Amino acid sequence: MAKPKVFVFAPADPTGNAHKMLEDAGCELILGKANWDTPQGNNEDEMAKMATGCDALMGTSIRSSPITQKILQASKNLRIVAKFTIGVDDVDVDAATEMGILVTHGPTESNWGGVAEGTITNMLTLLKKTRERDRYLKTTSGWRDMKLQGTFVGHREEDGYPGITLGIIGLGRIGSRVAKLMRPWGMKMIGYDPYVPDSKFQQFGVERAKDLSTLLKQSDVVTLHVVLTKETRHMINAETLAMMKKTAILVNTSRGYCVDEKALIDALQNNKIAGAALDVFENEPIAADSPFRKMDDRVLISPHMVSSNYGSGLKTGLLWGTQSVIAALKGEVSPYVYNTEVIDQWKSRFGGKSIL
Ligand code: NAD
Repeated sequence: MAKPKVFVFAPADPTGNAHKMLEDAGCELILGKANWDTPQGNNEDEMAKMATGCDALMGTSIRSSPITQKILQASKNLRIVAKFTIGVDDVDVDAATEMGILVTHGPTESNWGGVAEGTITNMLTLLKKTRERDRYLKTTSGWRDMKLQGTFVGHREEDGYPGITLGIIGLGRIGSRVAKLMRPWGMKMIGYDPYVPDSKFQQFGVERAKDLSTLLKQSDVVTLHVVLTKETRHMINAETLAMMKKTAILVNTSRGYCVDEKALIDALQNNKIAGAALDVFENEPIAADSPFRKMDDRVLISPHMVSSNYGSGLKTGLLWGTQSVIAALKGEVSPYVYNTEVIDQWKSRFGGKSIL
């Protein structure tokens, strides 16, 4: 029997352990050129060629070409596309489902919990002017400057100061963890997510906003935690930015395409909002001459790595992805399936049929 073929379109296995697990299980690996630190890899044609005859595709996020229908169609044997990360917006999941292919992902707490912590860190860094205070002392001989005052975040019982309002768009894993962590700070928290029940809002101490525009008008910080879909693509655009307070800041750690970058750059350059903290961008890595690299302290940027922490990172997601591939090659379904609606169809094609 020929060896099962696995195309690792965006490898992210610094220790080589996951690749060894697959090779030890009898697989032949084809490695793409994208990687975690350089998410630009092969183009669609190259990837379709590399995927030809493969039984499994796996990898971390890839920005150069999503896993399109053309790539999925390159092999009649294809059983699974296994992502190491949470997002599957770089896979044509609808096409995979239609073709009876499993798409699995890696919603590990080290990843989503890390995003929540990073989101809060970035928000507080902007609000408390941490970088500005530090730089002022290191680059001048001065001491205090009233321009370096921060924002008091929570409410105060003593003088009735109400605190500021945090607007959370998307109350899934990350949005609700942000709410859980910020609750003791005493901010008012409002949320917009049409797909979760009232009970979840209550559980996390978040008031349900009537609609997106209400949230945008009332919030001092707007933080985005939606998945990227046709509906959420550019949900923050010129029109919705205009609904925000001029004093408000935008935090985006979800996906770059949830925000219309052109409109955001215009809003920042023309003081239509007060600032932004961005971990994700429409095109990653951002260009050397990206306007974001030249912006002042009102804008805090990071290289899509808020969730990257020592001892966590992609380790668990990589393991889950590898286990999902091995399971699929054995004719079994792993617990990490994203398009669960395909499972019955998949079982009728591959269930119990091991090629390992
Ligand atoms: P999740 O699926 O648990 O939550 C997403 C939430 O968005 C869901 O509750 C869903 O109902 C809601 N939603 C969908 N469409 C919406 C809409 N139109 N309006 C409002 N809410 C809507 O996902 P998660 O694990 O919390 O991840 C959230 C985002 O973070 C994803 O985009 C993911 O790709 C991204 N992410 C980024 C990083 C990073 O390194 N920056 C790491 C992991 C995940």
